[in-house]
Amino acid sequence: MPDSQRELPLVVAGGGAAGFMAAITAAEAGAPQVELWEATADPLAKVRISGGGRCNLTNACWDPAELVGNYPRGSRPLRGPFSRFATGDAVAWFAERGVELVEEGDGRMFPVSNSSATVVEALSRAAAAAGVLLRPQWALQAVTPRPGGGFLLQRRGGSSPLACRRLVLATGGHPSGRRLAEALGHSVVPPVPSLFTLRLQAPWLQELAGVSQAPVALELQVGEERFRQTGIVLITHWGISGPALLRLTAFAARALHGAGYRAELRLDWTGGLAPEALQEQLRQARRQLARRQLGNGRPLEQLKRRLWVALLAQAELNPSQPWAELTRQGEQRLLEVLQRSHYPVTGRGPFGEEFVTAGGVALGEVNLASMESRLWPGLYFAGELLDVDGVTGGFNFQHCWTSGWLAGTAAAA
Ligand SMILES: Cc1cc2nc3c(=O)[nH]c(=O)nc-3n(C[C@H](O)[C@H](O)[C@H](O)COP(=O)(O)OP(=O)(O)OC[C@H]3O[C@@H](n4cnc5c(N)ncnc54)[C@H](O)[C@@H]3O)c2cc1C
Repeated sequence: MPDSQRELPLVVAGGGAAGFMAAITAAEAGAPQVELWEATADPLAKVRISGGGRCNLTNACWDPAELVGNYPRGSRPLRGPFSRFATGDAVAWFAERGVELVEEGDGRMFPVSNSSATVVEALSRAAAAAGVLLRPQWALQAVTPRPGGGFLLQRRGGSSPLACRRLVLATGGHPSGRRLAEALGHSVVPPVPSLFTLRLQAPWLQELAGVSQAPVALELQVGEERFRQTGIVLITHWGISGPALLRLTAFAARALHGAGYRAELRLDWTGGLAPEALQEQLRQARRQLARRQLGNGRPLEQLKRRLWVALLAQAELNPSQPWAELTRQGEQRLLEVLQRSHYPVTGRGPFGEEFVTAGGVALGEVNLASMESRLWPGLYFAGELLDVDGVTGGFNFQHCWTSGWLAGTAAAA
C-alpha cells in the first residue's frame, strides 16, 4: 500500500523530553507502530545540554499541591495532571529504566552519573525497546484534520501527506509547533522569555561581581504590579542573578516584557528582617562591638564582608570609625541602605543555566486529564508547547514527564 493511503496509528511530533516520554508511554501501553518525528538530526538535544550537561531532571518536591507553586504559568490547572504523575512517579519511572537520581541540598535532582548522557541513553534505549520508530530529520510542516477523524500530516520535503489516527504535538518552544496549533484553531498565548537575570543601574554593585548573598528579600515593581522573592542572589558585572532573582523574573516575565524590561528593584540585604529588629541589631552592635571598627564588625553574621564594606560606603560611613561613634543619622542611613535601596532595572541580562518560553497553547482548550485537544479528538499536546513554564530547579522537565506520560497514556487507549 502506498504511504499516502496507509494510516499510521500514532505520530508524536518533537523528539525532546516530552515527545520521548509520550512515545515510550504509548508504545509500552500497547499502541502499535508509534512514530516519533524529530525535525533535526539530534533528538533530545536540550536534555543533553540541560543543567550544564548534568540534566536537572526533576525536583524533590513530592506534594503536588506544593509542586504547582513552582509554575508561574500553569500553576492551578496542573494540580490534576500532577495528581496522576508527579515527582515520585518520574523518579520511579527513570529508576525502572536504569537512571538512579540523587538529590542536592536545594532539592534539585540529577542522575547519579552526574551526566545528561545517562538520561539521553535511557530514553533512547526505552524508545527502541518499546518499538518506537524514531524518524530524525522529519519535520512536521502542516496538519489537516480528516472528515472521518484522524489527520493528514505533511512533512517538510515529503512528497505526499501521510494519514495518521492520533497525533501528539510536542515541539517545545519552537515556533513551528505553535503555528501548527494555531492553524488548527487553537489559541496560543504569545511567547515571552522567562528565567533571565536583570541589568541594574548600580555601578557600586557591579564592583562586587561574584559575591553571593543569602537571604536577600527582593521586591520588583513593574508598573502597578509588585513581585517578591527571598533567597540567594548573586551579584554580577551586569547586575544581579541567582536562584531568587531567576524565580522573581519567572513570575514577573509577562509584566516585565510588557514594560520593555523597565522596572525598579528593591533589595533588602537583611532578608526581610522587621525594621525594629534590625534597629535593635544595630544598637546591640553599637554596645557589643563598641571599640571595633565598623568595617570589622558586621551587625548580621550572614552579610559577606565585601558587601558590608560597600554598604558602609553607600551609607557614607567610614569603615575605620568605631561602632561606638555611630550617630543616629549614620544609623538611619545604614538602615536605609540595608533595607530600602532601590535600583532602576535597565534591561534583561543574560539567561541563567535554564531558558524557557512562557506562553504557548492555551490550557483552557486542552483536557488536562488526557492532554487531548478540546477542539480535535485524537490531537494531544505535551511539554513546553503548552502555556506552562516552571521556575529553575527541574520543574520544567517535570512538566514534560507529566504531560508526556498523560498524552502517551491517553493516545494509546
Ligand atoms: C540550556 C538549557 C538548560 C536547561 N536545563 C534544564 C534543567 O536542567 N532542568 C529543567 O527542568 N529544564 C531545563 N531546561 C528547560 C527544558 O530543557 C525544557 O523545558 C524542555 O526541554 C522542554 O521539552 P520539550 O520536549 O517540550 O521541548 P524540546 O526539548 O524543545 O523538544 C522539542 C523537539 O521538537 C523538535 N521540533 C520542533 N518543531 C518540530 C516539528 N515541526 N516537527 C518535528 N519536530 C519538531 C525540536 O527540534 C525539538 O527536538 C533547560 C533549557 C535550556 C535551554
